[in-house]
Amino acid sequence: MSLATQYCWLMLAPEFSNLVRKSQRTTRYLAGLRGRNEGVTICAPLHSLNSYTIRATEELLYYAQRQGLMTQATTIDGKAMAAELSAEISAATAKLVANGKAKPGLAVVIIGEDPASQVYVRNKKRTAEACGFNSVQHTLAENVSQEEVLSLIDDLNTDPAIHGILVQLPIPAHLDELTVTQSIVPEKDVDGFHFQNIGMLTSGNTDGAFVPCTPAGCMLMIEDQLGKDLSGLNAVIIGRSNIVGKPIASLLLKANATVTICHSRTGDLPQVARNADILVAAVGRPQMVKGDWIKPGAVVIDVGINRIEVEVDGEKKMRLVGDVDFAEAVNVAGAITPVPGGVGPMTIVMLMSNTLQSALRA
Ligand code: NAD
Repeated sequence: MSLATQYCWLMLAPEFSNLVRKSQRTTRYLAGLRGRNEGVTICAPLHSLNSYTIRATEELLYYAQRQGLMTQATTIDGKAMAAELSAEISAATAKLVANGKAKPGLAVVIIGEDPASQVYVRNKKRTAEACGFNSVQHTLAENVSQEEVLSLIDDLNTDPAIHGILVQLPIPAHLDELTVTQSIVPEKDVDGFHFQNIGMLTSGNTDGAFVPCTPAGCMLMIEDQLGKDLSGLNAVIIGRSNIVGKPIASLLLKANATVTICHSRTGDLPQVARNADILVAAVGRPQMVKGDWIKPGAVVIDVGINRIEVEVDGEKKMRLVGDVDFAEAVNVAGAITPVPGGVGPMTIVMLMSNTLQSALRA
């Protein structure tokens, strides 16, 4: 039996798809190892796959990593994926309007002067306009009363030109975030924060529910790498927030992954993370996840957005980084999202997708 045939089997085995997805990369791993025997002897035909051969393949990949034989991870281009989706949403919007229906209407409420929020809202408005939506922004003063906020949301809830309502978080401390987010009717809750939408997601009934935008975008990127059915794969999520960690867990579970949610009280986090075929980091700690936390070949989704100070030519500058140490992780992972240009653009486009869905249902 030729070596070439053996590693063809390896490439074809679905159980290995998360470890050695790209046939070109696989060929390169094995070409590098072929002369050394270590790798080739563990390759197994499809019918004899078992926990031993899978473990042995992992060992092979660790070996390849140590020997510097691993090629770099695929960088998942969230910006390009988002641009494609945005074009599809624009086309669907044009069709809707051509059929005499109202444009999707998105109302964004921003309270106060938080600079990061201003940037996020500006990007959302720009994307909504590019998709052909009716984009409305309500800017409220920092000291606005809760009654005024609720009254505005009440008006938007009953406005037939508005299909999606979003209150940019965080909101000033004197306002009750839960009361504000729950006052948006579930049918227009395009952020997916209403208890009705959360309940539908958690119970696996995503049809007709709004799924929070960041987790929805992450899932599309994971599906693009690994397919829709994640049976047999271990997913580890670092972070248990209601906005990111928990809803991603529900989506991964629905896709048949075996899911572990970690948080600030988890013991030996690196060890748990190393078990992940899919690793999602949503923590808010710059470059916390190191290369040796990552299982070779894993799909790594970096949700974190952190500003750090770096020195460039003796000058201090601010730079955006994720929760994953990209420079290290890229040598171990099979695929990884960059920051910026990964999860961020997908989050915005999923907001547009939810708003379009709402307009189609109206
Ligand atoms: P959060 O603060 O609500 O939750 C952070 C989670 O991380 C918590 O569950 C906490 O237990 C956990 N955590 C904190 N320190 C830890 C540690 N040392 N070890 C393990 N777990 C730890 O944050 P969030 O809203 O979920 O956001 C997380 C990050 O994602 C932030 O950087 C945020 O800016 C970013 N984010 C990005 C997008 C996007 O579109 N790209 C969207 C939402 C959030």
